Amino acid sequence: MAGGKVEGCYGLTEASAGSDAASLKCRAVLKGDKYIVNGTKTFITNGNVAHYCVLAATTDPAAGAKGIITLLVDLKDTPGFHVGKVEEKMGILASGTA
Ligand SMILES: Cc1cc2nc3c(=O)[nH]c(=O)nc-3n(C[C@H](O)[C@H](O)[C@H](O)COP(=O)(O)OP(=O)(O)OC[C@H]3O[C@@H](n4cnc5c(N)ncnc54)[C@H](O)[C@@H]3O)c2cc1C
Repeated sequence: MAGGKVEGCYGLTEASAGSDAASLKCRAVLKGDKYIVNGTKTFITNGNVAHYCVLAATTDPAAGAKGIITLLVDLKDTPGFHVGKVEEKMGILASGTA
């Protein structure tokens, strides 16, 4: 990413967790040496082209903001990941929002 060869994105926002990001529902469960992640993100800049994502997820919803971790996810090598709707925007057209 630093060399400009691949794109990255930052995945925090969810449909019901925008300004109040600590209420996110994307869940990360540690199984052995891997996290199993389930959730849906929205409004992610470069989400339609990114190779990697710094993804925010909760390991413990009852812990609020303290339960949130960030994971570096290889979007090209993660079974189950897919890009959803790419937004049609009035501006900021140089980057996709997905
Ligand atoms: C073009 C674009 C690119 C983006 N890229 C990314 C990205 O790369 N990664 C990512 O994670 N997210 C991204 N976002 C999401 C962005 O961070 C959220 O849109 C933002 O956090 C606001 O959340 P929301 O849209 O749910 O609005 P809401 O949180 O629903 O807010 C709607 C309105 O209510 C107001 N409001 C909210 N809470 C309160 C309160 N408690 N008191 C008073 N007023 C309040 C807000 O100020 C706002 O005016 C992007 C959004 C856009 C539009």
